Amino acid sequence: MPLVTTKKMLLDAQAGGYAVGAFNVENLEMVMAVVRAAEELSSPVILQTTPSTVKYAGLDYYLAMVRAAAERTAIPVAMHLDHGESFDLAMQALRTGYTSIMIDGSHGSFEENIAVTHSVAAACAPSSISVEAELGKVGGKEDDLEGGDGNPFTDPAQAQEFVARTGVDSLAIAIGTAHGLYKGVPKLDFDRLSAIRSVVSIPLVLHGASGVPDESVREAIRRGICKVNFATELRIAFSDGVKAYLARDPEVFDPKKYSKAGMENVVSVVKDKIGLCGSAGKA
Ligand SMILES: [Zn+2]
Repeated sequence: MPLVTTKKMLLDAQAGGYAVGAFNVENLEMVMAVVRAAEELSSPVILQTTPSTVKYAGLDYYLAMVRAAAERTAIPVAMHLDHGESFDLAMQALRTGYTSIMIDGSHGSFEENIAVTHSVAAACAPSSISVEAELGKVGGKEDDLEGGDGNPFTDPAQAQEFVARTGVDSLAIAIGTAHGLYKGVPKLDFDRLSAIRSVVSIPLVLHGASGVPDESVREAIRRGICKVNFATELRIAFSDGVKAYLARDPEVFDPKKYSKAGMENVVSVVKDKIGLCGSAGKA
């Protein structure tokens, strides 16, 4: 079917008490792998690209691949811009045909974040493209964006005001996760999540879930997370598959052979994550 927005997908997840996985894709094989895994489990799915991925090949290139994958399947597939760092990039994604857009103004002040998020939400509203924002700072290094120092966690009262003043469709919150790989076991602030949930009615998003224990992800979903982002684990899975193939057969020269090994690894990780999110059978 044609690409869908994330609006209904996430509201359905919120009503059903599960989350939809959002998977960062870097190439054709990862696109094929994510959609195949979702199709085999009959799950709705979100594919997304960060600004550095977009820089690599262009919004149009990634969108074309994901659109082709969506049109071959009956499950709902959305194409999302992850961590759009400026109004301009968000508008480029909107014009190109992305069906869901994140504007990440969390590097600026509270008022600056509200201003840029409101502008993007207002620009996307006429075409019903859903907009995700971030309040607080998810730790670690996502793309070229460095997570903040100090107290980066999302404040519930600020979250309530932020949502009311911006009109966003979903909100990424900072409750102790970080992008990239963790050094220790991350501890999530579940009380904070519940406090935010009690004053914010829109779907909440968890970033930096790679390496968070499964039980913590499940608890976050029970407490109101409706979208969970997975990037690092997919990159590792793909690269490990390719490396293992090349180690077994250093003479190989057909890229399809080792790429397929990476793809199979990604299918298996995505299936695990869909199971974790509880979205199997919800397509
Ligand atoms: Zn993120």
